[in-house]
Amino acid sequence: MSVTYPQPEATASATGEYRAAVVSAFDRPLAVEHVVPAPLQPGQIRVKVEASGLCHTDIHAAHGDWPVKPAPPFVPGHEGVGIVCELGSGVIEVAHGDRVAMPWLGYACGICDYCVSGRETLCHEQENMGYSIDGAFGEYATAYARYVVRVPDGIDPFDAAPLCCAGVTTYKAVKVAGTRSSDLVAVFGVGGLGHLAIQYAAIAGGRVVAVDLFDEKLELARELGAEFTINAAKEDPVEAIQRLGGVDQAIALAVSPKAFEQAYRSLRRGGTLVFVALPADNEVKLPIFETVLNGITVVGSIVGTRADLREVFELHAAGKTHVTREIRPLDTVNEAMADVEAGRVAARIVFEP
Ligand SMILES: [Zn+2]
Ligand SMILES: [Zn+2]
Repeated sequence: MSVTYPQPEATASATGEYRAAVVSAFDRPLAVEHVVPAPLQPGQIRVKVEASGLCHTDIHAAHGDWPVKPAPPFVPGHEGVGIVCELGSGVIEVAHGDRVAMPWLGYACGICDYCVSGRETLCHEQENMGYSIDGAFGEYATAYARYVVRVPDGIDPFDAAPLCCAGVTTYKAVKVAGTRSSDLVAVFGVGGLGHLAIQYAAIAGGRVVAVDLFDEKLELARELGAEFTINAAKEDPVEAIQRLGGVDQAIALAVSPKAFEQAYRSLRRGGTLVFVALPADNEVKLPIFETVLNGITVVGSIVGTRADLREVFELHAAGKTHVTREIRPLDTVNEAMADVEAGRVAARIVFEP
């Protein structure tokens, strides 16, 4: 494929103010206002943002839902894609004019046991875009050059944005699940993440059962390769999946502990449940007896590494995946968050700054 998306002028004008969506308090809506960029530190780059995906994590960040909270004021956004327009000292990883993705793992130490063994997403020193450091909900963003990933030519930036969290997270989850040809895989939750999980499970050779509460999302799931769909608002997904013989792997993407418990009970013996979604309600109840007797594996999977993201981009550039997304102006950030929370969005919203 030889499509090249136009590279905007790489302006170096981020020394002045620019507009960004700022969380000033957990109980207040975001405000799109002018912010002043800090001078670049060694190893950092400034990026002119072209596209910035809205992930459920951004909503949890803005509300301060999780045990570890960000510190307002901050700018959310960890699905940013844009053009490098300014380089801090010592940057050798990228050049002016490169299109890069700025994922959740914004920084890691690079030298701890996790970092040197390909598990950088477990680094204790990590910084996260749009959470512990400012993210990409703005006209510009600041990132560490070592932790951005170049977006290959031929990928639309509005596709690249969801791929850099929803994509890499579900790609990794399917790797962690260990899906192999002819495995039956249940994907609980067909949203921004789920619609990609279905495709990665199918690419790995799995036959996919998609579970959601909305018929429109299940229709999308079928279009993207799900062989079976179950509306959990209308029938018990556990019974329906056990009628199929149970699944080898279940991937929990819905932000509801109940869906995690249903995913557990839909496994066949020897099955694996992968925890991915992070509900505000942090407890699930799983039985010990059945876990032991049935040889069940329960495993958590957090985003993916830079290497995983390169593979995600390779698959997309090769035409193997489809990103379902809608583009909205960044000024509508609060309405967009409300729509995602109400389940009114087919898959992913991507902001244009
Ligand atoms: Zn995310
Ligand atoms: Zn480290």
